[in-house]
Order: sequence, then structure tokens, then C-alpha cells
Amino acid sequence: MNKQFEIVIVGAGVTGLTVAALLAQSRHNDRLRLTVVDAAARPCHRIEDDIALRVSAIATGCANLLDSIGAWSKISQTRACGYDRMRVWDEAETADGAATLRFDAAEFAAPQLGFIVENVLVQHAILDVLDATDVELLFQSPITALQQTGRCYQVTLHSGRLVDADLVIGADGAHSFVRQRVGIDTRDFPYGQTAFVTHLRPEESHRNTAWQRFLQDGPLGMLPLNDGRISVVWSTLDALADRAMSASDEELGEMLSEASDHVLGSLQVAGPRGAFPLCARHANPYVLPGIALIGDAAHSVHPLAGQGANLGLQDAATLANVLNDALGNREYPGDRPVLRRYERARKGDNATMLHFMTGLNRLFTTDSTLVRELRATGMRLFNYSGPIRDHAVKVALGGSIR
Ligand SMILES: Cc1cc2nc3c(=O)[nH]c(=O)nc-3n(C[C@H](O)[C@H](O)[C@H](O)COP(=O)(O)OP(=O)(O)OC[C@H]3O[C@@H](n4cnc5c(N)ncnc54)[C@H](O)[C@@H]3O)c2cc1C
Repeated sequence: MNKQFEIVIVGAGVTGLTVAALLAQSRHNDRLRLTVVDAAARPCHRIEDDIALRVSAIATGCANLLDSIGAWSKISQTRACGYDRMRVWDEAETADGAATLRFDAAEFAAPQLGFIVENVLVQHAILDVLDATDVELLFQSPITALQQTGRCYQVTLHSGRLVDADLVIGADGAHSFVRQRVGIDTRDFPYGQTAFVTHLRPEESHRNTAWQRFLQDGPLGMLPLNDGRISVVWSTLDALADRAMSASDEELGEMLSEASDHVLGSLQVAGPRGAFPLCARHANPYVLPGIALIGDAAHSVHPLAGQGANLGLQDAATLANVLNDALGNREYPGDRPVLRRYERARKGDNATMLHFMTGLNRLFTTDSTLVRELRATGMRLFNYSGPIRDHAVKVALGGSIR
């Protein structure tokens, strides 16, 4: 059958690949020619390799989305670590104190709150799904130009190949080429923090719990891995992250054991290290005629609640639904009114999460005694807040996927 519309998805991260799979499996897929282009080499996960440095907490709702496209069984059978508890506490308190926020899956009748998964494994599993479709996958193929031609965009690939797209989906990450090239502005809120990431072997079991301790300089997150290690995301002052990068294994183990208040005993460095400068960023608008931004290209949030990839997956699901409905109504997929439906559905939720994370980070990094006391009281009250607490958990579980 003659394909009616050409959609180019720029970026084969988790969000770009997910929207590609959703569109490839949609009711109107016979009318779509889909191409995914990425600057990097094809991501490949091998079980004999050590657990990759970059892992994400994937909420149960997002795991269900990945299941719906046929990618989750490969992920769960390979190497995913379910976590059924979360503990969040302030450095002025102890992890077992009354002011610790506690979330237990059993309380919400859920088998787990989410899964810790290597980013590269998610990509690999979705690529396996896409290999069985007619989506064209082009790796090591950065786009180098984007030119509006009538109601289409001409996409120039590194090889010199030109593709005329009815719709370009910018899923090309926080420094999106697509976003910049079409002149979409962002509001940036630098945190003055860097996320330092490594794997550690704890003296005590992680108990399938996601731990988060709020320190004066930023939060320390400890996520359980399925071989007993933990993945640490320490959002801290740039200078401290630099120190962590250059410290010996022994020094670093001591720094992080102390930062975690020894909640899992002493911690031994057992993995590579990485540092990611943090900045909240929000695009305005998300869409133009023929252009839609999703994932980090549209919004970057603080990693403290592990929501970035989850928001991107929800964007992908919403955009695919909107396009599918539009095709069913004989509308043109690149039309702004069509794309605005996606923007309207997602921008508010993403903005709420972005500002909530920014506010939370600020609330915990203040050194005012009054704010510290109010914070501890607030955390105690939150544990008894019924509907507010339930709503927070629903959001964290990725419950709003349509
Ligand atoms: C330390 C840290 C911890 C995090 N932990 C979590 C977590 O626990 N849970 C969670 O949900 N989120 C987490 N996040 C956020 C999450 O990693 C991101 O939100 C998510 O990876 C964004 O996915 P994406 O597909 O939108 O973009 P990306 O993963 O950035 O993918 C963009 C892709 O576009 C490609 N690209 C770029 N430019 C071009 C070009 N010109 N041409 C072609 N291709 C191009 C890149 O090669 C890349 O493959 C964390 C982030 C950090 C920094």
C-alpha cells in the first residue's frame, strides 16, 4: 500500500523508540512511513556485560506501556530489579524516624512500585520490537539541517540523504538539535548541581527499597540493582561531584557511606563513575506545524524522583494516540491544531512535575532553621495526609498513561 505520510523521529532514546513502536503498531500504520535517525551507534545490551552505569527507575505504569508494545518481557526476563518500598528522609532525621516518608507497594495493592532498569536494555528491547516492523532505523546518522518546504520539513542526514517529512518528532534529548533549529525557546532553571553516578556494593541488603536522603547540598538516591549492588545518584555541588570523580575508591566509599548515614552499612565502590550537570529546562511551545518535541527535548527535570524517562514515555503514548485519532478523522498529522492536542494534554503535567522537583530540591537545600523545622513537620503530616499522599503515589507509579 502506498504510504501517505512520512514521519521522521530524531533520536533513538527511550522516548523516540517508544513513539516509533506505538505508531508502527497503530491502527493506521499502513499509511505511515516511519524513519528513526540517531547520531550514536545502535545501542546493544549483552547479558555478559556488567550492569550499565545509566539506569532508570521505571514506574509500573510505564512498564505496562512497554509491555503493550511487546518490549517488557525481554526487559524483565533479562535484568530488571523490582522495588516495592521507598524511603525518603531528611539529613537532620534518621531513616527509621517519624518524619521519614514511607511508600510500600503492598499498601497500594501493587506488586511493586517500579523497576530499576538499564537505559540501554530498554532501548535494546524496543529495537528488537522495531526490527520486526518496516520502520527504517538509521544509526550513526545525525541530522545536520532542517528546512521548511511548504507544509513539509526537509531533513538532511549526515550522509547527505534528504527526507521530506510531514512531521518531524524531536526526541533528541536535552540539547535538541530539532528544537534549536526551528527556533523553539526554553526556560532554563540551572540547579548549580551535578548528578554523580556510580554503582556500590552495600554491606547490608538493599531490601528492594529505593532510598533517598535529602542533604543540604542536594539529594542522594540509592536504587537497588538485581545483583545486590545499588546505583547511586548523588546530586550535589559541582565541586563535590568533581571530588567524587577523582577520589580513590576507598575515599569515595567513605564519602558515600557518610552521605547515606550508613543506612546500608558501609558502601564499597563497584562500578564506573559518571557526572551529569543538572538544569531544569522547559520548551515553549512543544509544537509547530510539522514539528513535535517529546521527552527531554521538551523538558528536563531534576532526577531526584526519577521521573524524566517516565514523563518522556507518557509524551510518547499521548502523541501516538493523538496522531492515531487524527488519522482516523482524515486530518493531516503535521497540522498545528492536531499537534496542539498533544501539547495541551502533556505540558501542564510536565510543568507541574518540573516545578515540583525544582521546589523540592530548593526546600531541602535551604539552611534556614525555620524552613527545616517546617519541612520535618510537613513530612510527618504527609505520612497521614490520605488523598494527597495517594495522589503523589499514583503520579509516581506513572498512573496517568492513557
Ligand atoms: C543522573 C540521572 C539519573 C536519572 N534517573 C532517572 C530515573 O531514575 N528515572 C527516570 O524516569 N528518568 C531518569 N533520568 C532522566 C532520563 O535519563 C531522561 O529523561 C531520559 O533518558 C530522556 O530520554 P530521551 O529519549 O528523551 O532523550 P535521550 O535519552 O537524551 O536520547 C536522545 C537521543 O537523541 C540522539 N540525538 C541527539 N542529537 C541528535 C541529532 N542531531 N541527530 C540525530 N540524533 C540525535 C542522541 O544520540 C540520543 O540517542 C535521569 C537522568 C539523569 C541525568
